[in-house]
Amino acid sequence: MRSSQESLDWYKKINDLWQANNFPIRFRSRQEMAEKVDFNIAKQVWRKAFKQEYREFKGKLIFGETSGNRYTSSEKNFNDLLVWINTSKGWSDLVHDLGHTIHYFKYRCSTKERPHNANHATIEWRITQLVFDGGYIDKSRKALQIHAQRSLMKKNVIHTNFTKIFKRIQNLEKRKKQYETNLKTIDTKLKALNKKFMDYKRKYSDHELSATHVKKTLKPRKPYKSAKQHCLELAEQYSYLNVWKEDVQISEGETRILVWRNDQEYQNELDLEYGNFIDNWSEARCKAVRLVDQYEKILKRKGEK
Ligand SMILES: [Zn+2]
Repeated sequence: MRSSQESLDWYKKINDLWQANNFPIRFRSRQEMAEKVDFNIAKQVWRKAFKQEYREFKGKLIFGETSGNRYTSSEKNFNDLLVWINTSKGWSDLVHDLGHTIHYFKYRCSTKERPHNANHATIEWRITQLVFDGGYIDKSRKALQIHAQRSLMKKNVIHTNFTKIFKRIQNLEKRKKQYETNLKTIDTKLKALNKKFMDYKRKYSDHELSATHVKKTLKPRKPYKSAKQHCLELAEQYSYLNVWKEDVQISEGETRILVWRNDQEYQNELDLEYGNFIDNWSEARCKAVRLVDQYEKILKRKGEK
């Protein structure tokens, strides 16, 4: 590997930054255990670095996780980039490999420039800063801690079952209360109905209580009275009322009736003279009733005065 002095200076800066933060540096410390990176945080770093260093990339980053001695690798898939991250290789490898990927696709494919040149080194430097400034190492450590804690835990079946039992008890208590309320309502209604029942028994005979049908009670009908009879009766009852019928039948089937009050004598003479007769008894009765009503009203008014 031949690198320019400029790139070597950049790598020294990068290594110093890692060491200052107590991280093993690349190349020299392969024997040291690298600190595992949380896969989700690693993906965040990759996306952030692509946004910062390779804005021209318009495809999607599709990630997989790999382990063991495998390198972090990537491969174009049309516009997208498939990336396999080895999270067990630690932070400095993650940043270095990420820098290579961006350098390769952004520059080397078109410019044919060499890896590990100053261009690559500056990309790696900026990504290293991004990792520290973004607090990704802390985020990764926290995430890994939570995963570790979770992996030691399992769902507490006792708590789940106990909660279920408690909830069922509450449910049944609630239903019991509802039933008790219903029972009270029914009791009240029963009492009221029993009282009514006894009242009926006291009030009515066994026959009345058991017979499904009873005779209708018909209103007594008024005895039939003809219009003529009614008319004549009114004349008899009220001395001021006169009912007169022509005895001689002038033409066949013809009835000639006059109804008047004593105070209407003059009018009556004119009716007789001009032949203004009533020709049936029901009309005669109507007039008789009307004349009586009128007169009785006048009498009543006079009486009140
Ligand atoms: Zn390299």
